[in-house]
Amino acid sequence: MSPEIRSQFPILEQTINGKPLVYFDNAATAQKPLAVLDASRAYYTELNSNVHRGVHYLSRKATDAHEHAREVVAAHFNAPHTHELIFTSGTTDGINLAADTLALSGRIKSGDRVLISGLEHHSNIVPWQMLCQQTGAELDVIPVTDSGEWDLSNIDSLITERTKVVALNHVSNALGTINPVETVIPKAKAAGALVLLDGAQSAPHMKVDVQALGCDFYVFSGHKTYAPTGIGALWGKEEILNSLPPWRGGGEMIKEVTFEKTTYNDLPFKYEAGTPNIEGAISLAAALQWMQQVGLDTIANHEHELLVQATAAIQEIEGVKIYGTSEHKAGVLSFGIEGIHHYDLGTLIDNMGIAVRTGHHCCQPLMARFGITGTTRASFAIYNTAEEVDTFIAALKKAAMMLR
Ligand code: PMP
Repeated sequence: MSPEIRSQFPILEQTINGKPLVYFDNAATAQKPLAVLDASRAYYTELNSNVHRGVHYLSRKATDAHEHAREVVAAHFNAPHTHELIFTSGTTDGINLAADTLALSGRIKSGDRVLISGLEHHSNIVPWQMLCQQTGAELDVIPVTDSGEWDLSNIDSLITERTKVVALNHVSNALGTINPVETVIPKAKAAGALVLLDGAQSAPHMKVDVQALGCDFYVFSGHKTYAPTGIGALWGKEEILNSLPPWRGGGEMIKEVTFEKTTYNDLPFKYEAGTPNIEGAISLAAALQWMQQVGLDTIANHEHELLVQATAAIQEIEGVKIYGTSEHKAGVLSFGIEGIHHYDLGTLIDNMGIAVRTGHHCCQPLMARFGITGTTRASFAIYNTAEEVDTFIAALKKAAMMLR
């Protein structure tokens, strides 16, 4: 990683408790480069105006910028059509959009099945449980192996003609596992199920091509791809989105409103009720363009190198257990140290300037699978360095000695 990349993240220059900040909580949210902060500021200093309905100059400029952002985001994921890209507030919002509209559509019936996996974040569990409650469908779960991977030995009995939706984690936020979605998606499609991929952790770490993946929906959050919070997107196949009912009602999503009857707007606006997060969409496009400039492969390779370094070094600490030992992992190192509570460990190393996440990572069923309440999780981004990994390991050793 070149120093020029690091210098684009002013927040990383600060000290915490007198120690240089080591920010290893990137799976929760990533820091923002100057290119994104500049795009955000330029929007508010030069363009701010409401979109799509103004006759005046600024409104036209803001609309153009917002719709150009949609083109950039759609192209980044190789979406076949720009109007298939719906701006959302993030992954949770996108999954709820898909689950709610599927429930409303009437295409899921009592006795149908929805398949998820044991690696899911709560936001790819709860909306499907709610859909099941509304429709009488039932949830199936792909089990997880000791290495934190999907156990696909019974996948053919888990995907049947009753399976209507398969909603899967692409990359695990809790363990880092890169899941073999390319094995499961064709099976789901062959059974006639719709496939949604939770891309919250794949979008920040790898090249994603929704056409090559063959999924029907892909959702992600901008704040993990170096963009601000409050913006994300759902990509969905045109014919499916057109066949689903609208979701939230209000301005923008309508063609014509009378008290007797309302007709709805075309994609993507049908699913974008109300004033959108205009600055967020523009900043998201700037973030994805920044990632393209750095190089998606460069990002993935750099994070992988840090993961390999940290994984080797952490084994020197007595009593360490790594959760998630797949060979196919993004830059996430989740672990416990015998006899030490993850919260105590996280608090102690925070005193040393190191930001990690502790707890269940919104994956309580996965924690239950391993018989634990939580882990300590270090997660890497392009701006992290090998020296920071050394600092982190040294801090863990010190903290482990103090806590034992
Ligand atoms: N799924 C996964 C795999 C995640 O990592 C996250 C965020 N931790 C989410 C869903 C939810 O994302 P958001 O809170 O941005 O909606």
